[in-house]
Amino acid sequence: MTLRTGRHFLQIPGPTNVPDRVLRAMAAPTIDHRGPEFAALTRRLLKALGPVFGTSGPVVIYPSSGTGAWEAALVNTLGPGDRVLGFETGHFAVLWRDMARGLGLDVDFVPGDWRHGVDPATVESRLSADTSHSVKAVCVVHNETSTGVTSRVADVRRAIDAAGHPALLLVDTVSSLGSIDYRHDEWGVDVTVAGSQKGLMLPPGLGFNAVSAKALQAARTAALPRSFWDWQPVIAANERGFFPYTPATNLLYGLAEALDMLRTEGLPQVFARHARHAAATRAAVRGWGLEVLCADEREHSGSLTAVLMPEDRDADAVRKIILERFDMSLGTGLGRLGGRVFRIGHLGHFNDLTLAGTLAGVQMGLELAGVPVDPAGLTAALDVLR
Ligand code: PLP
Repeated sequence: MTLRTGRHFLQIPGPTNVPDRVLRAMAAPTIDHRGPEFAALTRRLLKALGPVFGTSGPVVIYPSSGTGAWEAALVNTLGPGDRVLGFETGHFAVLWRDMARGLGLDVDFVPGDWRHGVDPATVESRLSADTSHSVKAVCVVHNETSTGVTSRVADVRRAIDAAGHPALLLVDTVSSLGSIDYRHDEWGVDVTVAGSQKGLMLPPGLGFNAVSAKALQAARTAALPRSFWDWQPVIAANERGFFPYTPATNLLYGLAEALDMLRTEGLPQVFARHARHAAATRAAVRGWGLEVLCADEREHSGSLTAVLMPEDRDADAVRKIILERFDMSLGTGLGRLGGRVFRIGHLGHFNDLTLAGTLAGVQMGLELAGVPVDPAGLTAALDVLR
């Protein structure tokens, strides 16, 4: 076994580093989930969660990963055979499509090159052509964790409105919530899907659905089978401060602490911090002479950067060297990007010197792997930070 000193650098794009404050908050005795202390915690949490989603409506919390929250969004709003419009922005969009198909939905999947977000003009043209309004939902992954590309959700909303189409808008914010500007109510999103393990700075284990009034209305008649994922019993129990099953009590302690940290820093500052670290990372990548995967300046992710390797180089070989030599984990290439990219996570509990250390480790790893890089890359990032 290799002896390690100091902290591991967990620079994958989630799960992210959990702040000591949050870890300590979770290391408290588990309480009665049907008692008054727990009811007060639930009420406090639900109040504090709304602003993070940008909603005054209900937010449903599940003891699940993000995948569970994806399923909840679909089964609460749709019926067997319903048409859904999706976009191939990357690996997670593909996984969500596969889930929708597995649930018996009829998914129109617009092909993509994994370097761009959803094209709002395509949304408008597809929906304008659907004069019978057979498309019931549009599914968008706000931040594609496999590519580091964001989709412009406000523009997608405008496109749906321009087509005069009543489809629901379902948005995955698993790797953007609490890191990249997001506004559920203002952007007219019907279901926002999220998870605990990225911008919310918690371990994996909580899934979320923020739900619009229109989505709640759709849930009344949506015919896909559901039981555990059903919003209604959760929302009803939440009104009394409880859940219809045993909630993930200690993760909820952590959530309260993390929400307090986000509130104290202020969401605009949180988003600006992420954007700045992303800009510094791009400066490093370009300075090294490598390419950022995201191909549209408007769509760079604040939470991660995917770095495209030269054709003849294996990104996983570089990641292996960096893990072994510098005890740092970077994100692997997912799906068709396997071996072609590595991903630098710069989200959550993170600061300038963590980024400087991360980029120094990446630069040294690239050099050790024999990838020709200009060492001025690191200096370019430090210039942005300074
Ligand atoms: N959607 C996105 C954008 C993700 O990044 C992930 C996981 O990384 C998921 C969905 C699935 O979430 P989970 O792995 O928590 O089930």
